[in-house]
Amino acid sequence: MAIREGCWDCGSCGSVANRGRAVNCPRCGLPRPEGTRFYLPEDAPEVTDEAQLARARAGADWVCEHCAASASAQEADCPGCGAPRGASGTQEVHDYGPDEIPRDGGDRRAAARAAAALPAKRRSPWTGRGVLAAIAAMLWWFLAPHEVSAVVDAKSWNRTLEVQAYRTVRESDWAVPAGGREVRSYRAIREYRQVLDHYESRERQVSERVQTGTRTYTCGTRDLGNGHFEDRTCTEPEYETRYRTERYQEPIYRQEPVYATKHDYDIERWVRDTVLAAAGEADEPAEPADPAWPVTQLRERQREGERTEKYVLRFRDEDGDTYESPVALDQFQKLRVGAPVRIKVSRAGSVELLQE
Ligand SMILES: [Zn+2]
Ligand SMILES: [Zn+2]
Repeated sequence: MAIREGCWDCGSCGSVANRGRAVNCPRCGLPRPEGTRFYLPEDAPEVTDEAQLARARAGADWVCEHCAASASAQEADCPGCGAPRGASGTQEVHDYGPDEIPRDGGDRRAAARAAAALPAKRRSPWTGRGVLAAIAAMLWWFLAPHEVSAVVDAKSWNRTLEVQAYRTVRESDWAVPAGGREVRSYRAIREYRQVLDHYESRERQVSERVQTGTRTYTCGTRDLGNGHFEDRTCTEPEYETRYRTERYQEPIYRQEPVYATKHDYDIERWVRDTVLAAAGEADEPAEPADPAWPVTQLRERQREGERTEKYVLRFRDEDGDTYESPVALDQFQKLRVGAPVRIKVSRAGSVELLQE
């Protein structure tokens, strides 16, 4: 692990870039005080001299509690006053991350941060909400209904009546219901069941993560507290994804029919016989269209079934445009041809009759 010599600045006389190992300022001669901030220039060379390496590895320098002289950890007594080290304080040992190592004596980072904090760009008014509002306004114009004055131009109605007959029909089922007369019975497939047939041997690729070793890398720098810096090394496991072919047994199923006895039988049911229709229309006020149900004479074994009814009014507005709309029976009977009405027309074409 490489050890490099850093620098320090003298706070008394302003001398900068003093060699890290110097315990006194080379210009004013004052001792390097406790709390000195060491830094490591980018181009600091690696230390190779054995004696200097031993001094760097001995530990943090100390500052004499009696005379404030600065001393290496290799020294047991103060080089200034000769007193033993005792409870003298030491320079701080500090670990830096890869991007945190101080490269010079002053704090120039604050200025860099201030320059980076530029004012945010102004947004164009045509982004986001402005465009959405414009689209909503256009949609509203296309889809919003508008009211118009119109007259009833024509009326038409349509009614149907189903006639059912009680008849013998042939049906088939898994059991003969009450009233049914069996014609024949036979074996038939009622459902299918999934049955395990056999296993098939197959192959598939499986992956697994295998640790292949460990990687050592420089993860920062340690300020040794004596004017020297040492690279910090960290390790992390290295992995590799490996594939292998695996054999496995896959179950294969087959569909097996399940048989049961089915019956054909005759039975009496109400079924649709005919659908009768009645319709009428009018486009003159003198001839009101009065809806009526289709008339029929029910014979024996016949009855009435479902009824349907539909009433449609056609309106004509002042521009001559016509619109058709289904209405309820009471509105249909109340409004004669030529009667004035207010209608609500959507731009998609649907019409709603407004009640007076
Ligand atoms: Zn100085
Ligand atoms: Zn001393």
